[in-house]
Amino acid sequence: MSTIVFLHAHPDDEASQTSATMRLAADAGHRVVCVYATNGDHGTVPADLREGETVVDRRRAEAQASAVALGTARVVWLGYADSGMTGWEQNSHEQSFHACSTDEAAARLARVLDEEDADVVVGYDWHGGYGHPDHVKVHAVVHRVAELAARRPRLLEATMNRDHLRRMFEAATAAGMAPEDADWDPDAPADDGNPVGTPEAEIHWHVDARPVLAAKRAALSAHASQEDVGWMLGMPDEQFAAAFGDEWFIEPGREPGMTDGHPVG
Ligand SMILES: [Zn+2]
Repeated sequence: MSTIVFLHAHPDDEASQTSATMRLAADAGHRVVCVYATNGDHGTVPADLREGETVVDRRRAEAQASAVALGTARVVWLGYADSGMTGWEQNSHEQSFHACSTDEAAARLARVLDEEDADVVVGYDWHGGYGHPDHVKVHAVVHRVAELAARRPRLLEATMNRDHLRRMFEAATAAGMAPEDADWDPDAPADDGNPVGTPEAEIHWHVDARPVLAAKRAALSAHASQEDVGWMLGMPDEQFAAAFGDEWFIEPGREPGMTDGHPVG
C-alpha cells in the first residue's frame, strides 16, 4: 500500500491527464491524494450559477465529484489564483500560482506529503506539456518538494507522448479522419516555443487507461462547467479511447526505457 500525492494546476487537469492512473491506484488499494494549486478562477463561467455561488465554489464542487469517480481519498486546495495563459494580465496577479514563491508553495505541499507520509509525488514535465505558466510551475514545485518532504518521495512527471501523438495523427490522416485543413505538426513549437509533450525515448511509464475509461469519462463529466470538457465527452467511445486511452510518465533518474504498466505496482 502506497500513498500517492498528485499536484495538479487546475481542477479538471486531474481528469484529462492522470485520472486512469489515479483510479487504477485506488482500485489496487493505494491511497490517492489530489492537491490543486489553483482554484481554476479563470475557467468558463457556468450559465447556471446559483445566487451567491462563485466560479470557485462550482469548480471545487466539481473537483469533489471527480474525486468520488476516481476513488481519491483526499482533496487539498493550495488556493493560489489561476494565472491564465501566457501573456494574460492575470500572470502578474499577486496571488497567482505562476508568480508565487516556489519555495513557499513547495513548503505548503511538503506539509501535505508529511501528513500523508507520502511515498510518491506526481507533477508535470519541465514545460508542463504545452507551456501553460501554472503547469510549468507545478513542475518546479514538485521538484522542490521532493527535497523538502521529511521522507523523500518518488517523483513522477505526467507528460504527453509526442511520438504517439504523431502516429495517431498520421493514422487519422491516412484514414481520412483528420480535418481537411489539418496541418497540425506535433514537432512544431507550441505556445511556449517547444513541441508538445516529450519524445517517447524520454518517457518511462505507459499506463493503459482503457480498463477504467468509464471512470475517466465520469471524472471529465464532473467538470461539466468547463467548455473544453464538452468536446472531449462528445467523442464516440472508440475516438475517446484513442484520444484518452493512454497516460504517460517520466521518472527522473530512472534508466531509459519505457515500461508498460502502472508506476506504483
Ligand atoms: Zn490546467
